[in-house]
Amino acid sequence: MELPEEYIVQKFYQFAGYPKYNKSTNTYSGGCPICLEGSSWKRKSRLYYIVKDVAICCHNCGWYSKPPKWIMEVADFSYEELRADVESGDFEYGIQDTLPERVNVHDLPRDSINLFDKTQVQYYKDNDTVRKVISTVVDRRLNTATNRPRALYLSLDDFVHKNRLILPFYDSNNKCIFYQSRGVLDRCLRERPKYLSKQNSDKSLFNYDNISPDVSTIYIVEGPIDSFFIKNSVGVAGIQERSTESLTVLQKQMLNKFFLAKRVWVLDSQWQDQASLKKTKQLIDSGECVFIWPEKLGSRYKDINEMCVDLQLDEVNTEVLEKFTYCGLKASIKLNRISV
Ligand SMILES: [Zn+2]
Repeated sequence: MELPEEYIVQKFYQFAGYPKYNKSTNTYSGGCPICLEGSSWKRKSRLYYIVKDVAICCHNCGWYSKPPKWIMEVADFSYEELRADVESGDFEYGIQDTLPERVNVHDLPRDSINLFDKTQVQYYKDNDTVRKVISTVVDRRLNTATNRPRALYLSLDDFVHKNRLILPFYDSNNKCIFYQSRGVLDRCLRERPKYLSKQNSDKSLFNYDNISPDVSTIYIVEGPIDSFFIKNSVGVAGIQERSTESLTVLQKQMLNKFFLAKRVWVLDSQWQDQASLKKTKQLIDSGECVFIWPEKLGSRYKDINEMCVDLQLDEVNTEVLEKFTYCGLKASIKLNRISV
């Protein structure tokens, strides 16, 4: 679909942060509403609408697309809604009757190296980035953790995810249907978000393929990395603090397959993190069971991975988790004793 330029500009002004026009280059710039540009929000403008290329790109998260796709993403429009929105305005326009490509069909970022494959790693043994990422994997015990996924990846030249640790999300057919990448290099961590998700793709559950068929309790953790250390746990790749829905539709469908199992949420320590405290409260209020960190551990460690690294564990004993799992009123009372 070809959109009128005025319409694109109007949407850019509506959704980009602090938008500006640069006459000499004929570009519009602003803050990227997709990645929020990490700590550089309001200090830098890394999102551009390049009029001559009819393209919108972000130099922070790597977003690059034609305007319709960007508007659909930021305005949360379906193709039909976008079309209706254009038609409701006073613009000249031309519409092709083809649906734009929205689904990301690539299983993994470009040329991903499997860090658990000795032959591949051997081949790159002199590459500094490969060495640095592997040393982080080892330091964090990700190569020995009991519930680790069957592969971890690294791409040296993907446009968005290069030089980051790639965490593959497999479904029950062992197909990688989603991934997140985590920054490892110092510069990358300073300049870009710690976690980036596969674009144009539904969030699924990390380590879903590791759940045993006769599981009695499924543990739900926020970040994929914590899931390495808890048997029968899945990572949800972040839950929204403001949203009332903690899981995506796809994630709910996947969990429904294990409807007989009890669900327990294991978040970061409520003793150290206001956001975690708030989310725990929301989960309790919506009827979920939660692990509430005991003070001794929770005041010392901010999350499962930090605790396992310090105590040199490859797994958290689920009996410990069970002991500090609470539901309903008991959970509320327990949580009320914590103030951050
Ligand atoms: Zn961005």
